[in-house]
Amino acid sequence: MHYRQLGKSGLKVSALSFGAWVTFGKQIGDPVARQLLHTAYDAGINFFDNAEAYADGQAEVVMGAILKKSGWRRSSYLVSSKVFFGTVGDRPNEDGLSRKHVVEACHDALRRLQVDYLDLYYCHRPDPTVPIGETCRAMHDLIVQGKVLYWGTSEWSAAQIEAAHAVCDRLGLHHPVVEQPQYNLFHRQRVEKEYAPLYRSPGLGTTIWSPLASGLLTGKYNKGVPEGTRLSTPGLEWLQDELLKKPGVEGKLAAISRIAAIAKGVGTTLPCLAIAWCLKNPNVSTVILGASKVEQLSENLGALDAVEKLTPQVMRELDTISGPLAD
Ligand code: NDP
Repeated sequence: MHYRQLGKSGLKVSALSFGAWVTFGKQIGDPVARQLLHTAYDAGINFFDNAEAYADGQAEVVMGAILKKSGWRRSSYLVSSKVFFGTVGDRPNEDGLSRKHVVEACHDALRRLQVDYLDLYYCHRPDPTVPIGETCRAMHDLIVQGKVLYWGTSEWSAAQIEAAHAVCDRLGLHHPVVEQPQYNLFHRQRVEKEYAPLYRSPGLGTTIWSPLASGLLTGKYNKGVPEGTRLSTPGLEWLQDELLKKPGVEGKLAAISRIAAIAKGVGTTLPCLAIAWCLKNPNVSTVILGASKVEQLSENLGALDAVEKLTPQVMRELDTISGPLAD
């Protein structure tokens, strides 16, 4: 494993990290979740990603129980939560980024994860109904109280991130240090273009999600939707629609076959190549992996060795294929 600086913060994060979305508390049993987290930690992964909304809080409960039992030094790993979508409640103030929900969701996450502080706490989406200064102040206060160490955003526009920095400057508050955007061979614009000015100043770190586009970039959906996969999971029909039923999907599936041939040609697997491609971007602080099986995670850890196989020539070929198709 190697470690990268999280933007201009002092935090070091493993180049590959591991997240709980869809899997923990939902698609997989707790023993598999435990094996996955231990495999990740043993490989040097130091960042585990979570959110209040994952399995309505159950993903944090499962992760918290594993962390508690692990005996790992608290200083040896980072754990995150995210606030915005809420859990089971649907009354006013049970979601969003008001001071009330930001603080209550933090307390709930600490309880479920059984930790004294969150290393990273994200605003999972922007909330146009709340003044940005109210959210920034709530995050700042949680940091001052020692309940959160660093805060950030997820899927905020560059303009919204800049607005948060301007408010923090003006009010003397702790700044957000990280953004968590989607980034993969089919989803590139925001990370590569929109955020480009933010990497130098204020020095944005990025913890990128869905490096395999939910499994699309493993080639497993090229001939339909196999049983037991994410896109066959009840409740995720919207994701199947998003990935397999939109115009242009045929072009993407054909591209995947071409990318698979490139992977074979350089002596790696398609998932490893797709993850290694994300790692090649120096503005990516960490690539968050997802897995429902230990074998998947073990395979994907091989992306670290695949990076050197992505020569400038191979990167150009991948760019030619993915560039015209990517959002
Ligand atoms: P990926 O795009 O890598 O998708 C992971 C899924 O792909 C696995 O669960 C598995 O699904 C399949 N897969 C992975 N490796 C292999 C393999 N080698 N062979 C075959 N299938 C494989 O990442 P995620 O979408 O899970 O995103 C990673 C993390 O990012 C999440 O856990 C979460 O922490 C974070 N995230 C954040 C979001 C945000 O809004 N901030 C949104 C989404 C994710 P299966 O076995 O079920 O087919």
